Amino acid sequence: MRTKLAAGNWKMNGLKADLAEVETLVANHPAPLCDVLLCPPATLISALAQIAGASLDVGAQDCHMKGSGAHTGDISAAMIADAGGSHAIVGHSERRADHHESDVLVRAKTEAAIEGGLIAVVCVGETEAQRDAGETLTIIGNQLKGSLPDHATATNCVVAYEPVWAIGTGRTPTLEQIAEVHDFMRNALVKRFGAEGDGIRLLYGGSVKPSNATEIFAVSNVDGALVGGASLKAADFGAIIAAL
Ligand code: PEP
Repeated sequence: MRTKLAAGNWKMNGLKADLAEVETLVANHPAPLCDVLLCPPATLISALAQIAGASLDVGAQDCHMKGSGAHTGDISAAMIADAGGSHAIVGHSERRADHHESDVLVRAKTEAAIEGGLIAVVCVGETEAQRDAGETLTIIGNQLKGSLPDHATATNCVVAYEPVWAIGTGRTPTLEQIAEVHDFMRNALVKRFGAEGDGIRLLYGGSVKPSNATEIFAVSNVDGALVGGASLKAADFGAIIAAL
């Protein structure tokens, strides 16, 4: 039985004043029925962790592949844990695009996160051109194969399927398209990792909001969501949590 997970990615949004939204979220959902994770910018991890208490987990949006050293601007798994974080998103499509992150690098970051005691939320997803060319399952299969280390387990990894063309656009795949990719990912993970692959949670991400959360969460092999814009406001993210 996989526990559902509602994960929020604040991206490069959020100042200290915005932590009031988290206070509201925690007050309204003190004991959610699913796991809840918020990944604010690194500057807010520590403060958010103090507000979160036992109601939700806190994570980072990236994690360097090395433990320490001359890597200006980066943060390591140990730093994330030290700030109160328990998770790290790796391989988000914005980082794959903006920072030219390859599957090889994403895999190294995933390994670093796991070695540092974090749970890696590994993102995969096709572009619109790749979907139009009928390449979706090949792309997802290759990203999964390349980005997940051989020791990925149900407890150290979560996978998020985020079609690039659905992120921040208000567009979502059909429920059939989501089911097709999630069933494909489940089969690929079971084939590679056996029983552990059956336990790895598969999140859908891309324009999830209160109005579409219920129907998306009912799709086969969807174990929750990675939510961008709608995780910034307590009312919206709270409604998504309640839909799980
Ligand atoms: C995301 O960035 O991971 C995301 C899913 O964004 P949004 O929900 O805003 O589409």
